[in-house]
Order: sequence, then C-alpha cells, then structure tokens
Amino acid sequence: MTEHHPQASSEEIFDAALGSPVQDITAEDAAAVFNQAARAHNRLAELPIDVRLEGLRKLLDYLVEHRDEAIDILCRETRKCRTDALVSEVLGVLDNVEWLLKNARKALSEKKVSTPITLLGKKSRIVHEPLGTVLIIAPWNYPLHIGLTSILAAYVCGNAVVYKPSELTPMQGLFEKLFQVDPILGDSIQVVYGTGTTAQQLIRQKPAKVFFTGSARTGRKILAQCAELLIPVDLELGGKDQAIVFDDVHLDRAVKGVLWGALTNAGQSCSSVERVYVQDTLYPAFVQRAKAEIDKLVVNSGDLGNADIGGMTADFQLDIVHQQVVDARAKGAKVLCGGATLVENELFYLPTLLTNLDSSMLILQQETFGPLVPIVPFSTEEEVVTLSNSTEFGLSASVWSRDLQRANRVARRLECGAVSINNVMLTEGNPALPFGGTKASGYGRQKGVEGLLGYTRSKSLLIDSDSSKIEPNWYPYTRAKYQLFDQLIQALFSHSPWKLIKAAVIGMKLESLGSKDR
Ligand code: NAD
Repeated sequence: MTEHHPQASSEEIFDAALGSPVQDITAEDAAAVFNQAARAHNRLAELPIDVRLEGLRKLLDYLVEHRDEAIDILCRETRKCRTDALVSEVLGVLDNVEWLLKNARKALSEKKVSTPITLLGKKSRIVHEPLGTVLIIAPWNYPLHIGLTSILAAYVCGNAVVYKPSELTPMQGLFEKLFQVDPILGDSIQVVYGTGTTAQQLIRQKPAKVFFTGSARTGRKILAQCAELLIPVDLELGGKDQAIVFDDVHLDRAVKGVLWGALTNAGQSCSSVERVYVQDTLYPAFVQRAKAEIDKLVVNSGDLGNADIGGMTADFQLDIVHQQVVDARAKGAKVLCGGATLVENELFYLPTLLTNLDSSMLILQQETFGPLVPIVPFSTEEEVVTLSNSTEFGLSASVWSRDLQRANRVARRLECGAVSINNVMLTEGNPALPFGGTKASGYGRQKGVEGLLGYTRSKSLLIDSDSSKIEPNWYPYTRAKYQLFDQLIQALFSHSPWKLIKAAVIGMKLESLGSKDR
C-alpha cells in the first residue's frame, strides 16, 4: 500500500464488461433441474464421504493450476483489481476447501452422546444426514469465493446442489469446468443462470433449504416466498461494520488495517469497514495519517497485481455510493479526498475520506458497499459501544487497542456475528470460524463445523437390545409402579451422596414390576 504507482491512463484501464446477458428459465426447465438433482442425490446417498472428498481434492488441484484463468474472468466481470481476485477470492476458496478436506469427515461423522441413568442399558447416537437438494443464491461481489465455499460445503455433506449466481457476474463456464474434474461432483452440482425471476422459479421447486447471500431487500422477498412453501432459509445479508480504534494503538498499523478493511474490493464486501470510530485523543493524527495513506493508493484494474483498488461492479451501486457522499456533503460533512469517479473511467470510484459526520447522514445509516471511509470521533468505551450497536445491521466489526482486556470486553458487547481484534475482516479468513450476522444482517452460519452442519439434518438414534424385558413405564400403569416412580424422582433429584445407589435399588424394583400384569 505504501508503494506509489502512477494512475493508469484510459488506454491502460481494463475495459471491464459485465457478464453476457442471461435468459431466465421456464418452470419446465426448473423442474428438469430438480429432477436431475433428485437423481444425483439418490446416487450420492449410496457413496461414502471419501468419494466426495476425492472430488474436492481434484477441484483444489485444478483451481491452483488454472488460477490465472479464474482471476482473468473475475477481473473482467467484477472489475476488481488482480490482488483482490488472487487473495480474497482464489486463496480464500483454497483455504476453505482444504479445511473441508481436513475436517469434514470428523464434523459429519456419527456422534455418540450420553444416555441418562433413567434409560440405563440403552445407547444414543446422532447421525448427520444430507438435506437433499439445496438451492444456493449468490451475489456479485465475491462470485468465486461465496459461490464455491457454499457449494462445496453443501456437496461434501452429501447434498445435490443447484447454484444460481448473480446475473451481474455469472462467470459462465468457469464453475462447470471446475466441477467436471470429477464425474460425481459434476453430476451433483448444477449451475443455473438467470435473474431473480430464475431464482423464484427454482424456489417453487421446493428445495430442501435455500442458502441466500445478498441484500436485505432480496432476503426479505426470499423469506416471504419460502414461508409459503415451508422451506427453511439461511440469510447472509448486508452490513454496516465498524472499526473501533482506541488511542493506545500503533497508529501506522491501525490506519493501514482500517483502510484496507474499508477499501478492499473497492468496499464491495459485506463486511467492509463502513464506520470508523476513533478515540478523540487520537482522532486528528488518525485522520491526517489516513489521508496521507489514501493519497498513495493506485486506483486501476486490468493490472498486473500492482493496483490497490479496482472498479465498481454495478453502475447502480456506484450511484448509491455517490449519493451518500452528496447527502453527507450537503449536511455539512468534509470530504478530505475522493468524492468522485476516476477521470479516465467512470466506473472507478476514488477512495473517499469523510469527517464532520452526524447520524442524520445516509452514510452512517445505510449500507454503502463502496470505497468510502467515514471517520467519527468518540470519547468513552460506553459511548462507542452504543454508537456501534445503533444501526439495524450486525455482521462483523473490528476493535483496535493495545489493551487486550478492553478489546475483548468491547468485542463481547457488540451486536454482531464476528469481531477481529487488532486486525480486520480476518474472522472470515479462518475457515474454522463460523460466519454470519445478527439483526438485519441475517441469520444462519457459513463455514466451520457449525456452518457445515447447517447443510445437514440431524437424526437421533436411541438403540436398545432385543430382549424379553418389558419397560416399567409401559402399560399396565399400577399404583405400585406410580409410588416407585415417585420415589425414583425423590432419590434422583435429591442432594444425597447415596442418590445413585438409592435410584438403582428403586430401578430394580421397577424392572421387576415391568413384566407383571395388574
Ligand atoms: P441482491 O440481493 O441484489 O442479489 C443477490 C442474488 O439474489 C442474485 O443472484 C439475484 O439474482 C438474486 N435475486 C434477486 N431477486 C430475487 C428474488 N426476488 N428471489 C430470489 N432471488 C433473487 O444482492 P447483490 O446486489 O448481488 O449483493 C450485494 C449485497 O449482498 C450487499 O447487501 C452485501 O452486503 C450482501 N452480501 C452479504 C454477504 C454476507 O455473507 N453476509 C456476502 C456478500 C454480499
């Protein structure tokens, strides 16, 4: 970030083109997709997890080998810069696949659980079964990472997967190539292109569960459609993530970390830093340093890895971002840099630093999803926690302080799904940590064991042996049994050190009554 590159001329700027227009599918097409998925799911049910893991291993190797091709498509369709595509998309996926390869077998294996003394002699197990055919609907900001991590987690659990990418970044053909590395994988996952209308057609086919990542607006519509059909839904929605910077931090690291969190992927990340709260004693130095660092950033795409910030994927998103700057300026905010598009290409918005902000401004209320850095001073821990929790969103946050006790205390008081301490957006970097939000940021978890189990249904097994024994709680009910059960409760839930012995004696008496008639 410190290296300076001259800004690109218009000829050098990659002429990003959004993916080719997609046609929506018909109800018949959607039914055919789900019929094929049902057949695939039946075939999968016959096969052990090793077969699925083998597919993942081949896909990982293929993606490592063909990463340049994937990055070219990503940069073309999203306009992101090459380093964002390499690190956040490709490396992010590879880390996740590796985690699945190492951990999925154990996470999905049958679990033995305890059985209470009242059920003496029996065994209890939990089996994690696949759901069937699951539908994954994805957004345009991280088409490879969000798409593949959800698809592969669903598949490794034994589900057939129907995947609907965003119509803005379909990356047509890339996923198909990846899945064709293995016949079972290729057979079990289908990519269906189209707009929201296609997604609605697919939901009408009653998938076992819908996994949606996208805006809160669309999330509400999906929830309404699924409610009618009683389809469970996991929602990964938007955010208004905050960075909280106390005055005891190492300034250089905190400034660079916060700026990266706000500007990576040109701010088009659900967990981008969208509010920076800096303790008032550090505030002037932080703002000055942030401005100096932003001035060094290179905005460009179609680069060789030496641009810091790429373009905006959607022109409508760019309008939302600019509107927030216009609104803030009109209400008295200072725009210290940026606030406009790159002269050479109107789809590249300049990193924009804003101060003098107040809560009436859209920039502090609504999701931005663009390269804006609004910095707000605070004085006390209490105040910053209240400010932090004042939006409708609750995805993730970062807390910066040398005092780890304080950082931990604040992290636990934030209403959100994840907090990075003295780092930023890093909870997402560890595939072992579950990822998801609270409040309007959605519910359900991706990644980690918890995320994986979200693609399964647990089945409980209680195993007893075949014998001549008649359970005492079966018929006939008699006065004698009643009294013994009553004594059993008194014995078991007493505080006596002999309670287990007493319960065992009563239990034996009850057993002997089990086989007797009235
Ligand atoms: P979006 O809601 O516009 O679209 C997402 C997907 O939903 C697309 O595939 C779209 O075709 C589909 N869709 C549209 N209307 C639909 C309908 N009526 N029924 C079913 N599907 C429909 O979101 P977007 O603009 O692509 O993505 C940006 C949003 O996603 C931001 O709000 C961002 O914060 C959020 N996001 C969240 C996470 C997370 O993990 N929490 C990750 C990335 C992005």
